[in-house]
Amino acid sequence: MLTGPLPALIDHRKLANQGRILEGSVPVNHLSRLRDMLAKVDGDVYLKLAFSKGDQQKTHVSGTTYATVELVCQNCLRGYSQELRCELGLDIVEQESELALLEENADSFIADGQEIRIVDLIEDELILAVPMIPRHADGACPGNDYGQAADDEPVTTEMTHQPFAGLAEAIKNKDNSES
Ligand SMILES: [Zn+2]
Repeated sequence: MLTGPLPALIDHRKLANQGRILEGSVPVNHLSRLRDMLAKVDGDVYLKLAFSKGDQQKTHVSGTTYATVELVCQNCLRGYSQELRCELGLDIVEQESELALLEENADSFIADGQEIRIVDLIEDELILAVPMIPRHADGACPGNDYGQAADDEPVTTEMTHQPFAGLAEAIKNKDNSES
């Protein structure tokens, strides 16, 4: 098992031949497309990927990848932490024409050379795991505390304004009727 800092580039065939497992983390910052979707770019993406020889002697990669990222809640527009977690299972092919040889429904990854970037194996999956409409869990928006505070103080601005508006109207009417 390879642990610790991960190399940026890996030789997937060699790893498959040796039946290796890659485990470690890469900075979120290295995933340029995922990075653009986040409220704050920090932390790491963890991954544990097992390499083996699959169908047609192709490299098969399976494992998990996860990260805790900061997204912007679409309810309250505040940042919140969201865990992204994906299970991966894909076959690495060298060209698109080889996709036809794979079992239907098999996820695949097209590598144009012996070496591939680790982040390329996991980034698409992580992006798919980002909620379409990011938001806090039901009722967990910090804005809800606000509603709580309003209960303690029953006189809201809105309510105090209305009686005075009515009063002003009444005075005006009275003036009119007297003149
Ligand atoms: Zn929220």
